[in-house]
Amino acid sequence: MKRFVYADNAATTPLSETAFAAMKPWLTEHYGNPSSLYRIGREAKMAINEARMVVGKCLNAAMPVNEANDYAPGEIIFTGGGSQADNLAIRGFMHGPTAKGRRHLITSKIEHHAVLYTCEALEKEGFRVTYLDVDEQGHVDLEQLERELSEDTALVSIMAANNEIGTIEPLRKIADLAHAVGAKFHTDAVQAVGHMPIDVQQMGIDMLSLSAHKFRGPRGVGALYVKKGIVLEPLVYGGGQERGLSSGTENTAGCIGLAAAMQEAVEGLEDKMAYVKKLTDRLVEGIMQIPYTHYTGDPVDRLPGTASFVFEAIEGEGLILRLDMAGVCGSTGSACSTGSLDPSHVLMAIGLPHEIAHGSLRLTLGEQNTEEDVDYLIETVTDVVATLRAMSPVWKDGKPDLTAASELHK
Ligand SMILES: *Cc1c(COP(=O)(O)O)cnc(C)c1O
Repeated sequence: MKRFVYADNAATTPLSETAFAAMKPWLTEHYGNPSSLYRIGREAKMAINEARMVVGKCLNAAMPVNEANDYAPGEIIFTGGGSQADNLAIRGFMHGPTAKGRRHLITSKIEHHAVLYTCEALEKEGFRVTYLDVDEQGHVDLEQLERELSEDTALVSIMAANNEIGTIEPLRKIADLAHAVGAKFHTDAVQAVGHMPIDVQQMGIDMLSLSAHKFRGPRGVGALYVKKGIVLEPLVYGGGQERGLSSGTENTAGCIGLAAAMQEAVEGLEDKMAYVKKLTDRLVEGIMQIPYTHYTGDPVDRLPGTASFVFEAIEGEGLILRLDMAGVCGSTGSACSTGSLDPSHVLMAIGLPHEIAHGSLRLTLGEQNTEEDVDYLIETVTDVVATLRAMSPVWKDGKPDLTAASELHK
């Protein structure tokens, strides 16, 4: 029986009822501009600052700044999403005074394009960037990091967890190595926040990017945590909102929806992680029964909802379209690389051969998914892979025809 199964929660997630309910009044009756001096403006500003406190608490960004042990609300800068937070963190830092004139930046080969392309743009401006290698499960090379760090390194930017293969990076170790040479540590935690415990103090994080729509908040709003004392150069000039770092009239409802979704995600985190992990384990076991299938990423130290695979003799695009016809939403590589013919930079970096990297499938589950969903996913993927292989020029006698495959991808 045909169902609809959404298994692309790393691309975006459905808005939670709680977040929607929290947002609604700020989209309708409470429309005051938060920068206005009259009551309805001040109320909006207060609501945004409360949302900021919630975000700070969820990250354990506690910084007692007065007798009441309040948070320093300036540490959370609301942005227009995860990409904007990444750009602000990296470019704003390298151009800002806290970089102290240092010109070197270290990142990894498996970052999101919001980080990679920002680094490439900085290279064109004369900054020096090192892109760290990763091992076959996607962990950054810590020895290489140690070798590359120097007195000229201003910033290390490594993601908390990878969006394609789910591998979790050793944040605390990276932070310690960076700090040892006086560099700061930024992490793109867009996939991690709301899905695994994050504590900026314990993990030694100086800056952290997050995005609401990856944890059941609204799209188009995110935040950058900036540790007290770090001064960034703005990317956008204007009305000076968000301490001058995110100019433009605030997205009141978005900020409130972000905080509501984050609080909800963080409160039930352990139970949710256990539930989602159980589903994912069942999914992985089922999918790995398909012959000539490889699991990608760290099978243990990964995001609880991420399962990613490559199937030999399969084209990812065809797979996604067929799955869609069967009511299944999944993804091949990252959503951003769809439409380009090159295999994902992440799969290349973990050393997958070109000819099989094209057959990648990422299924990402959330707490909305059920065991029945998982069984349907296994059944559907198994059928679709068999159908596509039966039609494939690189599949012969029940196995991949490697000579034909290497010809095809020459
Ligand atoms: C989705 C994602 C982003 C971009 O976030 P947006 O809010 O869509 O701009 C950045 N980094 C990672 C790891 C992501 O998964």
